[in-house]
Amino acid sequence: MVPENDTWAEEMARPAQSLVQPPLLNIKPLNYVFDVSRAMSIWPLTFGLACCAIEMMSASMARWDVARFGAEVFRPSARQADLMLVAGTVVRKLAPAVRRLYEQMPAPKFVLAMGNCAISGGPFKFEGNYSVLEGVDRIVPVDVYVPGCPPRPEALLEGIFAIQKKLTGRRFWPAARPVAAEGPEDGAK
Ligand code: SF4
Repeated sequence: MVPENDTWAEEMARPAQSLVQPPLLNIKPLNYVFDVSRAMSIWPLTFGLACCAIEMMSASMARWDVARFGAEVFRPSARQADLMLVAGTVVRKLAPAVRRLYEQMPAPKFVLAMGNCAISGGPFKFEGNYSVLEGVDRIVPVDVYVPGCPPRPEALLEGIFAIQKKLTGRRFWPAARPVAAEGPEDGAK
């Protein structure tokens, strides 16, 4: 909770500014080709903030292999990224840096809030807490929320599919089978 007269804390939570120019050419079939190309080659910003980032890293390793869906090229520069994947706790002191990175990203750009901390402050949301931002959507516009503490890599993949659907209007991958109520995990005997 932010004290009412704490202008510093309010300044930290100021929303990002982002001016998006309309396209020079607006040809629908051409735009769709561009959007499918974008959806199949999402470049996330390397942006791990806390424990959720470990799950994000797992998603890029062999078992979940986000490269299958074209989103493995994590960029060290916001100017080369089109997906801000906020994985972890955003403290107010960090908020200006998050905002600046978002503003530096070229459009079209997307934000995915991964985990309860990024969505709402998570376990750090309690009476008297002054340092944690209660949701990254206070400073940048979030497109997809992936809840959990932490969410599993499969959930992150679903979030990336949702971004792809936002871009193209369709899902490209089959839906996961429902998990059996009981039984050995991951096929282990
Ligand atoms: S949501 Fe849970 S796992 Fe993710 S950063 Fe917060 S405390 Fe860590």
